[in-house]
Amino acid sequence: MPLQDVRKRSVVERQWIRYTLVLAGILIPAFTASAFDVESRAIVRKGKRLHEERVVLANLREADRLEGEHFRIVAGTSEDPVPVTSLKGATLYFHLERARDFFAGLGDLLNADQRAALGERITVRMDIDVEYSDANHFVTGPKKVYNTCKTIPKSAPVVERMGRVAPWGLEIWFHPAKTIRRKTMAAMGNHLKSGEFGLSVFEQLLTGDLTRFAQAGNAGSFDPTLAAASLAFSLGLSQLVPRGVGLAIGRVKTRFRLDTAMIPEIIYHEYSHAVIKKSDLELKRSTQIIEGFPNFFAYKISGLSNLADHDGAFGIGTRGKSAKYRGLYSFDQDLFSVAIYGSFTYSLLVQLEHALGDEGFMILWNAMGSLTYDSDLKNDFVREVLSSIDRFSSNPEAKRWAALRVFMERGF
Ligand SMILES: [Zn+2]
Repeated sequence: MPLQDVRKRSVVERQWIRYTLVLAGILIPAFTASAFDVESRAIVRKGKRLHEERVVLANLREADRLEGEHFRIVAGTSEDPVPVTSLKGATLYFHLERARDFFAGLGDLLNADQRAALGERITVRMDIDVEYSDANHFVTGPKKVYNTCKTIPKSAPVVERMGRVAPWGLEIWFHPAKTIRRKTMAAMGNHLKSGEFGLSVFEQLLTGDLTRFAQAGNAGSFDPTLAAASLAFSLGLSQLVPRGVGLAIGRVKTRFRLDTAMIPEIIYHEYSHAVIKKSDLELKRSTQIIEGFPNFFAYKISGLSNLADHDGAFGIGTRGKSAKYRGLYSFDQDLFSVAIYGSFTYSLLVQLEHALGDEGFMILWNAMGSLTYDSDLKNDFVREVLSSIDRFSSNPEAKRWAALRVFMERGF
């Protein structure tokens, strides 16, 4: 065993002794206290990679189940909290508390709705494989849902009036991971480095219209490049075509698997939806703005510029998001179908925060407060950032120029 490993283990052992002492101090008076801090094991990121390690789960109401002050972790459609020894449950709980701490620390930046979201006790469903319905809560049909997660709003008053299903509060669902094989279009050569966004548009166009291609293929006339070009033209995405037709595109089968409950940045992202959904950024659809801000918050919470990268067996065939991505704006950045795939808005927010200095986060947070699920990047986002600078910056003249330089650099 290399020396380094020995040293690491002894640090862990020392931590273990310390936690045990801390725990003893907490658990003995816990019969009268209202919250427990309990030790368990969770997946955390060390360096770039994910590891299992000991963590302390704070603010639990019970010592042996994940029933906490802010989160209760249940499995599937059950209402019973899972044991603290559940690795997935503890991973969710640990990172959700961490994300909540971040938002709670924003203090005066929070509006009343956001504060209310922090005060809500959220039911977090892991390994839930059913679909969501705003009328029935759970859709127990044959169709199962895998490899994704979602934040769902509390039940509407009409659900309570109808009385068919029990009303529910704010919930976050983490669907189970399942390895699937999917066909994708791979591009070769230097083009791989450019146009992250254009490629994902192509991929979507192609995988989204496979039946049409299959028919063309059966008729012996299948040419993926030309089919992509014609589809792009027909959807008004012709500016993608010159780059696209030059690509050597081949049909490649890839494996895909995403255990969203085991990847810290995805947990931060999802909780961010729960906090900001109280504003007008309600999750009525996925747009660059609605998905970009949670990625930006995941970066603030994790301190990582590459999100959901190096996920090992928890994320296969997935693409991380990079804060260093420097793609240029094109109008497709605002198309909802591709919004969640790119790094554009995320990297733009990080770049703006840097350019705006100490006031960067505050300016962007306040700009977010005026955006809605209808807002686009090119007009609404730019306008709200500049307006936030005018309203909140101590040096609006300089900050305006700093923001405009970023927008120009990114092709707005
Ligand atoms: Zn999202």
